[in-house]
Amino acid sequence: MTEVWNPLYGTPVYPAKRYATLAHRIGAALKTDNDVLLVQAEAVVALEAVATSLARPGLSALNIVTSPYGGWFGQWLRRGGADVIDITALPGLPIDAETVSEALDANPGIHVLALVHAESTSGILNPLLEIISLARARGIATVVDAVASVGGHRLDVDGSGIDIAVIGPQKALGGPAGVSALSVSPRAWELILHDDAPRDSILSLADLKAWLDDGHGALPGTPAPLEFFALEAALDRVEAESIERLITRHEKAASASRAGLSALGASLWVPAERASNLVTTVSVPAGMEAAFVIRFAAGLGVELTAGVGTNLSHLIRLNHTGPRATFQIVLAGVVAYGEALRQAGLPADIGAASEAVAKAYNA
Ligand SMILES: *Cc1c(COP(=O)(O)O)cnc(C)c1O
Repeated sequence: MTEVWNPLYGTPVYPAKRYATLAHRIGAALKTDNDVLLVQAEAVVALEAVATSLARPGLSALNIVTSPYGGWFGQWLRRGGADVIDITALPGLPIDAETVSEALDANPGIHVLALVHAESTSGILNPLLEIISLARARGIATVVDAVASVGGHRLDVDGSGIDIAVIGPQKALGGPAGVSALSVSPRAWELILHDDAPRDSILSLADLKAWLDDGHGALPGTPAPLEFFALEAALDRVEAESIERLITRHEKAASASRAGLSALGASLWVPAERASNLVTTVSVPAGMEAAFVIRFAAGLGVELTAGVGTNLSHLIRLNHTGPRATFQIVLAGVVAYGEALRQAGLPADIGAASEAVAKAYNA
């Protein structure tokens, strides 16, 4: 008989006593003393759990939509009986704090405001701090989808007063995709722990509260050990680099990408103060197909992708998230985009663009 062997045979269970440490380390990355819950699934499940656990008839929510994620969040809240007002930004663009302020003034009695911090789908950054202060001034609880932004943008959960922040390790933190986490403030718990709160459900945060109250021991069910070992490894690396330096690395990748693309004469989709540090987005020139750029870059071994969402197929994204936030990836993306422009007969100074990237990295 041939020997069948694989290093993953006999994977040890993740030690129960380490979950509390994981939660504590995530709290430190988020700068929060709030409770941190671990969700045994991809971050979309954590987001759906938040919406499902908050939703009830009589709850009013203002839901900011700047990508499909926000659209889903509103739909999950409605499914649970909440009254939801969606405010939707123009396709692929951030929301203005002023629009949010007007919507809050026009709709007194809102309990919860939800938004995404930074969008990897379009490369935008929402004005998080302004919006959180608008909500706080009115006593409204806030839910922030920081799945993409954690590790790529400054995020100070307690300093800004975010009630629920949802994160995933798979973006800027460079970790596994099969586990996620969220922080929950005392005020958010008050909204969640009502008599009709969903129970005995993988989407029930009230159930996860029992895990906290029981002393952060073994998670319910059979947690997937590889995911938790991988999360621990990702946190080891993040802490060795330091979250501040990780954020700086993303800032550098974003500013170098922008400098390089500007030197090519490319049209950046949003100005720097409205752009994410995770992906940099350009709008392809009229008459040029994004699909052509993507195919051409792929031929050079460079991954460029289209914008995700309605009416965003004219956008090209240069992804410099997590392990991709490096000089090599940024340079390759800029050069490939420039060469695609030239292939299409458009002028593009690749030398100047490369120099601009190098200079941004030396700054
Ligand atoms: C990536 C991401 C998620 C998680 O969704 P997946 O696409 O399934 O990884 C949630 N919210 C935001 C803003 C994200 O960027």
